[in-house]
Amino acid sequence: MAPAYNSCRKLSKVNTMGRAEHIKCIAHTHADKIGVAWCGRRLVHEWAFVDIDHAVYTVEQKQRLVPCQACVAAICQILSNSES
Ligand SMILES: [Zn+2]
Repeated sequence: MAPAYNSCRKLSKVNTMGRAEHIKCIAHTHADKIGVAWCGRRLVHEWAFVDIDHAVYTVEQKQRLVPCQACVAAICQILSNSES
């Protein structure tokens, strides 16, 4: 299993209950998608994780911010499709 897919599975288990103000989207890093989150939201003047590794690191450091589960689901789905 590729590391990115493991990251994705880890992130999908993060408990976001009661942490609405700390839920942050994960930004695309591809040039064509700058300013868009993986869940499709436009990121305007909004803090976001710069990529999936950033989200994993933040969760592992037990910081308060948690990743948007719609973003995590979108990334997981692509990774699971590409590896099956
Ligand atoms: Zn999102």
